[in-house]
Amino acid sequence: MTKWVYFFGAGKAEGDGEWREVLGGKGAGLAEMTKIGLPVPAGFTISTECCDYYYKNGKKYPADLKKQVADNIAKLEHTTKKKLGDPQNPLLVSVRSGSARSMPGMMETILNLGLNDRSVQGLAKSTKNERFAYDAYRRFVQMYSTVVMEMSKEDLEHRLRAMKDRRGVKEDTAVPAEGWKELIAEYKANFREKTGKDFPDDPMEQLWGAIGAVFGSWMAEKAVTYRRVEKISGLLGTAVNVVQMVFGNTGDNSGTGVCFTRNPSSGEKEFYGDYLVNAQGEDVVAGIRTPMPLREMARLLPKVYGQLEKVRVKLERHYRDMQDMEFTVEDGTLYMLQTRTGKRTPAAAFGMAVDMANEKLITKEEALLRIKPEDIERLFYPVIDAKIDKKAMDARIITTGINAVPGAAVGKVVFSAHDAEAWAQKGEKVVLVRKETSPEDVGGMAVAQGILTATGGKTSHAAVVARGWGKCCIVGAEKLNIDYNAKTMSAGGKTVKEGEWVTLDGGEGLVYTGQMQLVTPQLPKAYDTLMKWADGVRRLGVRTNADTPQDSRKAREFGAEGIGLCRTEHMFFTDFEQPEKGQERQRAIQEMILADTREARVKALAKLLPFQRRDFIGIFKAMDGFPVTIRLIDPPLHEFVPHERKKQEELAKDLGISVDVVVRRVEQLHEANPMLGHRGCRLAITYPEILEMQVRAIIEAAIECKKSGVKVLPEIMHPLVLDKKEFAILEEATRRVADGIIQGAKVKLEYLVGTMIELPRAALLANEIAEAAEFFSFGTNDLTQTTMGLSRDDAGRFLPDYVDEKKAGVFKADPFQTLDVKGVGMLIRWGIEGGRKTRSKLKIGICGEHGGDAESVKFCHAVGMDYVSASPYRVPISRLAAAQAVVEEKVAAKTKLK
Ligand code: PEP
Ligand code: MG
Repeated sequence: MTKWVYFFGAGKAEGDGEWREVLGGKGAGLAEMTKIGLPVPAGFTISTECCDYYYKNGKKYPADLKKQVADNIAKLEHTTKKKLGDPQNPLLVSVRSGSARSMPGMMETILNLGLNDRSVQGLAKSTKNERFAYDAYRRFVQMYSTVVMEMSKEDLEHRLRAMKDRRGVKEDTAVPAEGWKELIAEYKANFREKTGKDFPDDPMEQLWGAIGAVFGSWMAEKAVTYRRVEKISGLLGTAVNVVQMVFGNTGDNSGTGVCFTRNPSSGEKEFYGDYLVNAQGEDVVAGIRTPMPLREMARLLPKVYGQLEKVRVKLERHYRDMQDMEFTVEDGTLYMLQTRTGKRTPAAAFGMAVDMANEKLITKEEALLRIKPEDIERLFYPVIDAKIDKKAMDARIITTGINAVPGAAVGKVVFSAHDAEAWAQKGEKVVLVRKETSPEDVGGMAVAQGILTATGGKTSHAAVVARGWGKCCIVGAEKLNIDYNAKTMSAGGKTVKEGEWVTLDGGEGLVYTGQMQLVTPQLPKAYDTLMKWADGVRRLGVRTNADTPQDSRKAREFGAEGIGLCRTEHMFFTDFEQPEKGQERQRAIQEMILADTREARVKALAKLLPFQRRDFIGIFKAMDGFPVTIRLIDPPLHEFVPHERKKQEELAKDLGISVDVVVRRVEQLHEANPMLGHRGCRLAITYPEILEMQVRAIIEAAIECKKSGVKVLPEIMHPLVLDKKEFAILEEATRRVADGIIQGAKVKLEYLVGTMIELPRAALLANEIAEAAEFFSFGTNDLTQTTMGLSRDDAGRFLPDYVDEKKAGVFKADPFQTLDVKGVGMLIRWGIEGGRKTRSKLKIGICGEHGGDAESVKFCHAVGMDYVSASPYRVPISRLAAAQAVVEEKVAAKTKLK
C-alpha cells in the first residue's frame, strides 16, 4: 500500500525536513520543527506524490487515500483530545498548500475548518468568547466560498463592509457576535443561491472540499505563471497540510507574526519581522492591516518574545540558513506554524552567504551554492542618481511607504496587473500601483519596473514576491488614496493619473512624481569576497562576447579573462569612439557589396581597413594580454544594404552611381532563407578579399600593440564552417596573409586559426575539422537553430507554447536561452570528443548566448570545455556558475560514495 499521508504531533513526526520533495516545504518544516522539540500544533501532510497521482489519473484520488485521511483525523483527534464537529470542544483545522519550492501566496489556504452551527457553540463555550467563535465561523464560510467554490472575493468583502456600515463600526474587532451571525446567514444564503447547494455542514465533507481546492490550485493560472517566471519545473505538485488550528485572534494576549532570523533586505544579523496583535496569520500575509515591527512585540509580550528569540537561534543553527517563520500566539502561548528558507534581496544573499561562512555556520563552498544566478543580475539594479538636488527631490515627494525592496524604478503608473502586462507588451515601462497585491497580480508584477501598494507590511504578498525578484517595491503607503475607477492616486495634495511618470525609491520608501535619472549601484563588499572564492574554485575560463573597446573594458571589470567572440560586422555600422565616422564605415562596406569586380571590392575594403585596425587595437589594449577571438564577417550581405527606396537613392548619390545599380544589386542579394544562405565563411570562400582585409586588420593591429608593449594573443575564427576542405581553404588563406605581414614586420607574433562549430555537420565531422583547426568555439545560437530546425528569429511566436506546462510543455526552458542538453548537447559532446581525438590539446569554448546561462555553463563544465564566453553583464553569472559546477560535482561524488 502506498503511503500518502504523514502524521506529526506531540514531538514525533513520520517525515522530516529532508523530505521536501514528498512533503513540500511547509510539511517538511512542520515535521522537522516537531522533531526538534519546537511548539508545533499537530497535524498531517498529504504528499505531493498524491497530487501527482491526482493529475495523472484524470483528477481522481488514489483508492486508499480516503482511509488514510480518516485514520489520520482519528489520530489527530486522539492527540489533541478534541473531536471534529464536536458541539463541546471541537477540533478545528487549517488546510494549506505547500510544494517543494516556496511559491508565496500562489496556492490556497482554508482556516477554521470544522465549524458548523453546532461546533461553533462548542468553540464559543471552550474559549468563553462568542464574538471570537462567530468571527472564526464567518472567516471559514468566507474562505470556503471563495477558495473551494470560487465565488467572488470582492462580493463577500463588500457584504462584510456593508454589515459594518449598518452597525456603524470600522474595525473587524469591533463587530459583535450578532453582527457575525447576521453575516454568516447572509453568506450561506448567497452560497445556496450561487451554487444551488447548502453550505456543507459535515466537517469531513468540508475537508474533502478543501483538499480538492488545494490540489486544484496547483494548476491555477497564477501558480503556473509563477512557476514560469521563477523557472520552477520538475515538481510533483503540492502537498496538503491539515493542521490543528491555533488562534491569534482571541484577544490582546494573542497575535500572529512573520519573522526572519536575519534582515532579508540588508542581510544584517538582526531579528526582523512583523507582528499583528489579535489577528489571524492571513491578515499579515494579505497585507490588509499594517503590522508593527517585531521589536514592539518584545515590549508587549516579553516572555513570548524571549521564547521566539530562542526558536530563531535554534532554527537558524539547525537549517544553517536564514529562516522565514510564521508564528501565532494564542493567549500567551507560542506556536510555530511554518519555517522555510527565507527569500532575500540579492545584496542580502551575498552578505549572508559570506557572513555565514565567516561565522563557520556553512563552508565557503556552500556559500557559493547559496547565490542564484539571478541574484547577480539583480545586484546591478539601479538607484536614483545621488547628484540630483535633494531639495528639488523633496518637492516631488508624493508620499512615503515601507521600504520593502531596495533599488529604484521609473515608470508610468498603471492600476491593474492586466494593464501592466498590456502596456509592457507595447514597450512601455510601468509602475504597478495597487491597494494591495494578490497572487493573481504576479504577471503584472513581473513586467513592472516597480511595485507600490497602499497597505501591507514587509512580509505582505507584494513585498515577498518582489523581494524574490529583487524588484523595487514600496508597501504600506497608507496616505495614498487610490481610486481604481478614476485611475488616479493622490496624497499630500498631489494627484497622479494613469500613464503619468513616477519614480520609486525602494531603499528609502519614497514615491516621487516624474522621471528621475537612475544609476547603477555600488556592489556590496561581500560580492567581491564571494566572487574571489568562486574564481578560486572554478576550472572553466570565463570570457566575454564584446565587439568594442568600451564593452571589452566593461567586461574586464566584470572579471572576463579574454574575448570569446568579437563579431566584426558590428563595427561596420558604428564607430564607437568617433561616432561621426559611422557613416563613412557604412558607406565603405556598402560600396564593397555593390562593387561588380574584385578590383572595386578591394578598393572599397581598403577604406574599411583602418577602421577595423583601430577597433582591434582598442580591444587588444583593453584585454591586455588575454586571448581575443575575432570572428570574420558572418551575416548575409543583404543585411548591410538599404531596402527602402529613399535610402537607396541616398546611397546611390553618395557613391556616385545610378540608383538602378543599387536596386538591382539589392534584388540579387535577396535570398529565400538567408540564415541558411550566403553567409558565414561562405562569403570568404566567394570573396577571399574580405578575409584578406580582415586578417590584415587583425594582424597589423596585433603587431602595433606588440610593438608598443601590449601583450596580444589573437585567435582568428571562421563562422559557419561545415567541412574540413572548406576550413582548409580558409586556414591556408588566413595564414598566407598573416604570415606575410608578420614576416614583413620582423616581429614574433603568435596567433591561432580556428572555427566555430555551429552546424550539426561540423559537430559530426569535428575529428576531421580539427586536423587544421587549432580551436573550436561552439556557436550554440546557430547550432540550436540548425539542430532543432527552429528559426531563432521566428520561433518566439510559438516557442512559448512549447515551454508552457499548461500547453505542450515539450521543453522545460526556451532552448535558445538554456541549452538543450539532450539534443544539441549530444552534438556538443560528440564534437568535443571527435575534435580532441584528433588534437588532444584542442582549445574548446562556447560563444552562443548559453555561455551566460548558469545551467548551460554547468553543462559546459561537465563536458570538459576550456572556457565559456558571455555578454559583459553576464560574465559574473558564468564565473559563479562555473564554480558551482565544481562544488555540485563534489557533492554528487560524495553522495554517490555514501
Ligand atoms: C552562434 O551562432 O551561437 C553565435 C555566437 O553566432 P551569432 O549569434 O553571431 O550567429
Ligand atoms: Mg552563429
